[in-house]
Amino acid sequence: MEVLYRSTRGHGEQVTASQAILQGLSEDGGLFVPVEIPKLDTDMKVLSEMTYQELAYTVMSKFFTDFTEEELKHCINSAYDSKFDVPEIAPLVHADGAYYLELFHGATIAFKDMALSILPHLLTTAAKKNQVKNEIVILTATSGDTGKAAMAGFADVPGTKIIVFYPKNGVSPIQEKQMVTQKGNNTYVVGITGNFDDAQTAVKNMFNDKELEAELDAAGYQFSSANSINIGRLVPQIVYYVYAYATLVRQGAIKDGDKINVDVPTGNFGNILAAFYAKQMGLPIAKLICASNENKVLFDFFRTGVYDRKRDFILTTSPSMDILISSNLERLIYRLCGHDADQCSQLMKALTAEGSYEITSEMKEQLSDFYGNYATEAETAETISKVFEHAHYLIDTHTAVAATVYRKYTEETKDKTPTVIASTASPYKFTRSVMNAVDSKYDAMGDFELVDELSRITGVKVPQAIEDIRTAPVLHDTVVDACDMPAAVKNILGVK
Ligand SMILES: *Cc1c(COP(=O)(O)O)cnc(C)c1O
Repeated sequence: MEVLYRSTRGHGEQVTASQAILQGLSEDGGLFVPVEIPKLDTDMKVLSEMTYQELAYTVMSKFFTDFTEEELKHCINSAYDSKFDVPEIAPLVHADGAYYLELFHGATIAFKDMALSILPHLLTTAAKKNQVKNEIVILTATSGDTGKAAMAGFADVPGTKIIVFYPKNGVSPIQEKQMVTQKGNNTYVVGITGNFDDAQTAVKNMFNDKELEAELDAAGYQFSSANSINIGRLVPQIVYYVYAYATLVRQGAIKDGDKINVDVPTGNFGNILAAFYAKQMGLPIAKLICASNENKVLFDFFRTGVYDRKRDFILTTSPSMDILISSNLERLIYRLCGHDADQCSQLMKALTAEGSYEITSEMKEQLSDFYGNYATEAETAETISKVFEHAHYLIDTHTAVAATVYRKYTEETKDKTPTVIASTASPYKFTRSVMNAVDSKYDAMGDFELVDELSRITGVKVPQAIEDIRTAPVLHDTVVDACDMPAAVKNILGVK
């Protein structure tokens, strides 16, 4: 079955998978969604015996139907290789009453690697298929993890440049160091004086700026996106939910057909949407638990049906979830309104113009697959310390938000369904916050002293990604206002 893609704000025009990946965002400002979600029709017994790479091919080939088998396998094998420090790619660890799906074994030790190690290959393959002559410029707004993972993926990839914008005062010290030391002669990193939403909005505006598009085209460039608005980011994320289920079956923890819950620390709603798509494919998922930090716009939305971004932006110890405009929610909204692009488009326009929108009660009824809650900063720290105490397992701040919400969920519902928690970052990426949660005495130590101490108390080897930045020189130090981002892009590309 061929799967085509259409925009959540469009009028029914359809594009192929490779065209959707190339464009990133649709011209009408909407996001590409598959016209139909394909079914997972391979036997679970067979899936449970597959390697990660084989399973990735089984899932992705159903969505990326205009890629040949050879092309897609090449993309998969180039992505999920020894850049990951474990052969399973996404190991599942049973600790303290839940299954932690460790998605942080890639080059930049956060879950963004799961999709961003393959996106450059998908994109360059898509460019060839569509006879693109221009150089592709990846524009990326990051709340800390996407930027580094995207640069690691695109560094020195011929025919591409990548420009990353990050909130200068909104990322962890390790995250910032990882970005500003990035090598590669096609990588550019720019700090902005605003927050992540400012960066993401400015990037979306640049995508929709026809004048800029013409200027770039004349200079031999075109934009694409490495943010999770790109369907090429989302589909690779479906894979690891199927893999987690298959692993549970293989390990005998569940029987084929048994339901599981999935609990995801959420920011831009990309990761949890991938789990929702896995469920639509037929994977037996009961509840999708959406965990927020103190920026709890999604918790309020699930409770009230009102999405309201008019509130203070809070800087937390889980910075990759410090987001008030969860872009991928648009893909869910589109489904909820029965694929009515006009209605979807109106709601999204209201969000831009008035800062909020409200869904109808019929739409709200369809949200019963989801459970939303949030964790305060104090609860997050307490969870890190408790899980470490109970299971000698040290989780990062984002994963701890999800673990906190899981506790609240089980207390409220008494549900005993086996639950997979997406463990989205290595504790080494947020060393200071994690170590302070274990013991406040650590606050006096320097960043890399803390790294060594973390290794000492857990017995987990310091990841290569951290060793690499210990002494690496700072290569990027530009900072601009959010309103000057288009000028910064033109400057980097030498476009007048
Ligand atoms: C990006 C990120 C998240 C949030 O994922 P979304 O897909 O944006 O919802 C959670 N945790 C970490 C560590 C991240 O990098």
